[in-house]
Amino acid sequence: MTEFVEPRIGSIPPQRRIFTNRNLRMESIEAIGFDMDHTLAVYNTKNFNHLCFDLALERLISDHGYDPIIRTVRWDPDAVIRGLIVDKDNGNLLKLDAYNHVTRARRGFRFLDKEEIREVYSRGDLRLGSDRYRVFDTLFDMPEGCIFSGLMELKETGAAALNRSPGQIYDEIRKTVDTMHADGTLKARIIADLPRFFIPDPDLVATLKKISAAGKKLFLLTNSEADYTGAVMNYLVGGADGSWEELFDLVICFSCKPGFFLPGKPGVPVEADTLPLLPNRKGHVFNGGDCFFLEKVLGIEGDEILYFGDHTYGDILSSKKSVGWRTAMIVPEVEHEVENLWLLRDQWQEVASLEDELDDLVLKQDQLEVAEDTDKKQLDELKEAIGDALGRRSRLQKNLKAAYNPYWDSLFREGRASSRLGRQTMEFACIYTSRVSNFLNYPEDKFFARHLELQPHERWALNS
Ligand code: IMP
Ligand code: MG
Repeated sequence: MTEFVEPRIGSIPPQRRIFTNRNLRMESIEAIGFDMDHTLAVYNTKNFNHLCFDLALERLISDHGYDPIIRTVRWDPDAVIRGLIVDKDNGNLLKLDAYNHVTRARRGFRFLDKEEIREVYSRGDLRLGSDRYRVFDTLFDMPEGCIFSGLMELKETGAAALNRSPGQIYDEIRKTVDTMHADGTLKARIIADLPRFFIPDPDLVATLKKISAAGKKLFLLTNSEADYTGAVMNYLVGGADGSWEELFDLVICFSCKPGFFLPGKPGVPVEADTLPLLPNRKGHVFNGGDCFFLEKVLGIEGDEILYFGDHTYGDILSSKKSVGWRTAMIVPEVEHEVENLWLLRDQWQEVASLEDELDDLVLKQDQLEVAEDTDKKQLDELKEAIGDALGRRSRLQKNLKAAYNPYWDSLFREGRASSRLGRQTMEFACIYTSRVSNFLNYPEDKFFARHLELQPHERWALNS
C-alpha cells in the first residue's frame, strides 16, 4: 500500500482535524468539561482489551462453570467495532445502517447471507430499547464482543457442549466484565502498570492550559472512582503528586452517567487529604451529584457548556438531549479512517462517479426496454456497458473495503449510507475529533462552521 504522507492543511494534519456537524462558536462557551476514560485518558487498547479478554475467560470458567475448552477462543482485535449490536435471542453481532436496518449479521465466525438476514430481521428497524439487544457504545465493550463471537462459534460448530442459550451466554459475559470493572480486578492490574495501559499525550497539559488561559472554566466528569481517577490523571499529567487537580475548576468522580444527566442529588465532597493523588486541596472534588449540581457550582449552564466524551450514549447523546450541552465526541478511530480516505480518495471519487454513471445507464435501459422501436444492438451495447461499470465498481469496492476492518468495514459507513454510529455522530456531536489535544492546533475563539450539506437533488444538480 502507498505510504501515508501527511498532507498538512495549514499546519494541521487531516487525521488530527476537528470536524464540524453543527456550528459552534467557541467565544460563547464558558466552561469545557472532559470525560476521563477513552477521552482525556488514552488507553493502550491493544494491551487493555487483551487483558480484559483473558481475565474474563478465566472468570467464566471459575465463576460460571464454563468448560475450560473456552480457553481455545483466541483474542482477535478486529472481531468487533464500536456501534455493533448484540442480538441475544439469535446470538448474532449486528451492524446497522443509519435507518436501523440490519446490514451485516455474524453468528460465531459466519456471516449470515442476505436471505437469512431478511428472514430473521423481517420487521425492518430494530427496537433497540428492549432487553434483547445491547449496543457497543464504547471501546470498553470490545473484549466482550470478541468473547461472545468465540463462544458462539464453539456452540455453532459443536466444538464445546455449551448448554446455554445465546442470551444466557451473553448475559454471563456481560456480568463478568461488569464485575471486573466494578470490583477493582481490572483497575488493580492497570494501576500496577500504568505505562502498559495508557498512552500519555505530550500535548494534553498544554491544551488544558490554553483553554483555561482563554478564560474558560474546566471540569472533569468521570464515572471512574476517585482513587482510580487520581492515579490515572496523576500519571498522565505528571508533576508533583496530586498537583494535576489544579488544572480543573471542578472534578466529579463516580458520576454514574448517563443517570447524572437526570435530576438527582448534590455531589458529596471527597474528604481532603485522604487520597494522595487526589488530595482535594481546593475543595473542588466531589463524588456523584447530577448535572444541575455541576451547573450550579460552575455558575454556567446549558449551551454555554461544551463536553468532551467518547461514550455515544452516556456522554454525548444524554448531555445534549437532557440538558442541551454542546458536545465534542472523541473518536480515536477517525485517524485511521481519514488516513485511508486520503490514500484512496481517487478510488472513492471513481466509485461515486460510477454510481452516477450507472444511474443514467440503467434509466436509459429502462426506457429502451419499454420503447416499441428499440434497436436490439443498441440495447445489447447498453447492457454490456452496465456490466462493465458494475465490474469496475465491484473491483474498486473490494480495494476500499480491504482498507478497513476485515469483517465490519468502516465505523461510519455501511455501503452507500452512514452506519448507525455514523448517523449518531452527525446528529449528536456538534464536533468530533480523534483526541482532545487536537484543540491545540486551533485558535481558542474558533468558530467551527459546518460544511454545506447536500440533499440528493442538490448533489445531482451540482454534479451534472
Ligand atoms: P468515564 O469514561 O471516564 O466516564 O469512565 C468509565 C468508567 O466506567 C471506568 O472506570 C470504567 O472502568 C468503567 N466501566 C466501563 N465499563 C464498565 C462496565 O461494564 N461496568 C462497570 N464499569 C464499567
Ligand atoms: Mg469515557
